[in-house]
Amino acid sequence: MDRTVQFSEGHVIFRESFRRFLAKEIGDRYPEWEKAGIVPREIWKKFGDNGYLLPWADEKYGGAGADWLYSVIIIEEIARYGASGLFVPLHNDVVAPYIYTYGTEEQRQRWIPGCVTGDTILAVAMTEPEAGSDLASIKTTAKRDGDSWVLNGQKTFISNGHLSDLVVVAARTGAADTPPAQSMSLFVVERGTPGFSRGELIKKIGLKAQDTAELFFDDCRIPASNLLGVEGQGFIYLMQKLQQERLVCALASQAAAERGLELTVEYVKERKLFNKPLSKFQNTQFLIADLASQVTAGRCFIDGLINNHVAGRDVTMETCMAKYWVCEMAMHVADRCLQLFGGYGYCTEYIISRFFVDARIQTIYAGTSEVMKLIVSRYMGL
Ligand SMILES: Cc1cc2nc3c(=O)[nH]c(=O)nc-3n(C[C@H](O)[C@H](O)[C@H](O)COP(=O)(O)OP(=O)(O)OC[C@H]3O[C@@H](n4cnc5c(N)ncnc54)[C@H](O)[C@@H]3O)c2cc1C
Repeated sequence: MDRTVQFSEGHVIFRESFRRFLAKEIGDRYPEWEKAGIVPREIWKKFGDNGYLLPWADEKYGGAGADWLYSVIIIEEIARYGASGLFVPLHNDVVAPYIYTYGTEEQRQRWIPGCVTGDTILAVAMTEPEAGSDLASIKTTAKRDGDSWVLNGQKTFISNGHLSDLVVVAARTGAADTPPAQSMSLFVVERGTPGFSRGELIKKIGLKAQDTAELFFDDCRIPASNLLGVEGQGFIYLMQKLQQERLVCALASQAAAERGLELTVEYVKERKLFNKPLSKFQNTQFLIADLASQVTAGRCFIDGLINNHVAGRDVTMETCMAKYWVCEMAMHVADRCLQLFGGYGYCTEYIISRFFVDARIQTIYAGTSEVMKLIVSRYMGL
């Protein structure tokens, strides 16, 4: 089925060359990175050298001033490759936009060029041990002291936790009883700042090459000029950018579901049992037809949202629906595809096993499925 997103010839060429780039630069090294629990910094530099970091950034900051469909291609191809622990999409389309949108010109000049070259890797730190879905109850504080802000608190589950050179940190700047929309601010904390430290890599069932870690702020003093935007507006800034963050998540899940299904279709045609290919059993045919229907429905939904998002429309509610439905669908697809691989699907040598474990997180981070349904029901006036 043709996609309803209008990719130009330039986009198509870009996708092909990005696919070749991934095959060349990642090749079969991904399992090594999974063992290490982190991807090498060099790969980020290679992304930067080839224009795959913040392609949308203006030329004056080193970017290409490209439209957002180039980001879409990068997200989709990384997901299809199964390199889901390489959190370039988080850097490109989740964290950098905070600096780009809410930063001053001086901050953009200072930080964006390094994000484009890959010398500066980004993370965002919102979640705390006692505040995940309930973001409004974060306890990390930032107190003004002369020309500085002093941060105290702990963050957990931070992606790019070890690799990051700049972390956008959500902290409370108002009294605990002030509504979150007036009392949370965003700060940029730089690598090497005294009082800023990182915990061990968190061991996870999936995203094994992703350096997820805890971060600690212990009287961490940063210059007053590292506040992003207006003091007290942090919660609103986070909410304003969630549409794109959730779309990025749903896009990746959709692309992974498509790739997982393609691999499974190839496999069931080759695998022979009881003297015939696995694809010739009616159970296989019905299951594949069912999965393909769900994946196709997801594609229609996602492409519609991409078109609306690129056109600048507010599709917050629909994006929450997609974050919930597509990520749950992709998890189910990965599970059923693995089933068709039998015991081989359970072995890490077969990439379908990685699609399965990596699909699991998608319904949890960037807002759980339950939180997405909560938001949708509120939009519906329930
Ligand atoms: C691998 C990984 C990477 C991550 N990366 C980042 C990152 O880079 N930066 C960052 O800030 N955070 C990150 N997170 C944190 C992630 O966003 C949170 O884990 C997520 O928001 C859920 O919060 P929680 O884990 O505290 O679960 P909880 O909020 O404790 O939720 C537990 C359960 O309660 C349900 N629940 C919550 N609220 C309601 C409700 N109102 N009604 C009904 N049920 C409800 C949830 O859906 C869930 O099933 C990451 C997490 C992981 C695991």
